[in-house]
Amino acid sequence: MDMQGRWEDIDHLLLRQGTLVGPEFEPCAELRESLHNDLRVLVIGAGGLGCELLKDLALSGFGNIDVIDMDTIDVSNLNRQFLFRMHDVGKPKAVVAAEKVMQRVKGVKVVPHYGRIEEKDDEFYRQFQIIALGLDSLEARSYINSVVCSFLEYEADGSPALPTIIPMVDGGTEGFKGHARVIIPGVTPCFYCTLGLFPPQVTYPLCTLAETPRSPAHCIEYVHLIQWGQERPGDSFDADNPEHMKWIFDKAFKRAEQFKIAGVTYSLTQGVVKNIIPAIASTNAIISAACALETLKIATMCCRSMDNYMMYMGTQGVYTHTLSHEKDPNCLVCSPGVPFEVDSSISLQKFIELLLEDPQFKDKLSKPSISYQKRNLYMQAPPVLEEMTRPHLNSPLFELMEKAGGTLNVNDKKLTGILRVNVSFRGHNDTVMDMDTAGGG
Ligand SMILES: [Zn+2]
Repeated sequence: MDMQGRWEDIDHLLLRQGTLVGPEFEPCAELRESLHNDLRVLVIGAGGLGCELLKDLALSGFGNIDVIDMDTIDVSNLNRQFLFRMHDVGKPKAVVAAEKVMQRVKGVKVVPHYGRIEEKDDEFYRQFQIIALGLDSLEARSYINSVVCSFLEYEADGSPALPTIIPMVDGGTEGFKGHARVIIPGVTPCFYCTLGLFPPQVTYPLCTLAETPRSPAHCIEYVHLIQWGQERPGDSFDADNPEHMKWIFDKAFKRAEQFKIAGVTYSLTQGVVKNIIPAIASTNAIISAACALETLKIATMCCRSMDNYMMYMGTQGVYTHTLSHEKDPNCLVCSPGVPFEVDSSISLQKFIELLLEDPQFKDKLSKPSISYQKRNLYMQAPPVLEEMTRPHLNSPLFELMEKAGGTLNVNDKKLTGILRVNVSFRGHNDTVMDMDTAGGG
């Protein structure tokens, strides 16, 4: 039985018209039904943010939630990952989180997946209408972003094909700071478009560490980066080895004494060396609430989505600001195609060589396979396909692309998704440009 009044607030959003509603919003009771019965949302991560997200989504009326996480519960999680108890320590987070949410919110189905996100195939991710990310690593975000953006197809007019879009809502927290953002592949900037926004990890100038340490962290980093190599040459440092960590702590403590700096503790040493930023439960709750609300907006259109990046700072008071980041029109991951101009005489073989030499692509490709409008031009594997497509290598690319420029799909073992390359041929596709130049002077 549902608790009385449990859905009252959701009904206020779904059963009433308003001035902020999204395009084509029709208030009706069926919206709540379809949110509960039809829509499927995936939550990635069942840690600090993930626990909050699962609870928030279940209480917002989402009835079919899947959750994936590769971790097991550690005793240090219990202060904020509130779905877990002492007797759950050692069990998979996804499994326990799913059970607890289903116990507390009757009628909601949460399917756990205990494992790495890389282990799931494309078909797994394609099942979901929305993906909510509660992750703590850039690598995992990049990975899922590439997967979801590779589903994206573009119409002939360059607009993204709606059925191929899976929106993502991404939350992130770091101590008292956090962000929530909405990524609609092909429409708003993807994670890769704005990769430059994430600051590099904090590092200290070596001269400060060596000459003028001013904080406990400076003393710890000095021992970690310099003294270890001097005093234990050939012994590679392992942050998970307690003896190594104790050694760093003891030396750093002595160094801090010399410089009359207080505050070097064993746990701070671990934090600095492993680059751990303390997780704050309230930050997770705030960011997750923003993410769950955005997920609800996308699912029901009860309000227009945030445009498109909200940052939150709780260090001194509470401050938030929402800003609109711009898409990179030539993004390697989400754009309709990275422009690439070639001579109309080149062979497919030469084209592949040019790709491998190009500074934009060379780190990302090793043995690219090329297709054009679902036709395989050259496949590196399996051997049967390689043999079948090998004769194309000597054909002019211009002929293979039916004497027109267009988008080639490039696949490579090194890529998570696909790379779209928008090929134009010198002297063939620039009639419009020529006219412009002639007319404009
Ligand atoms: Zn992008």
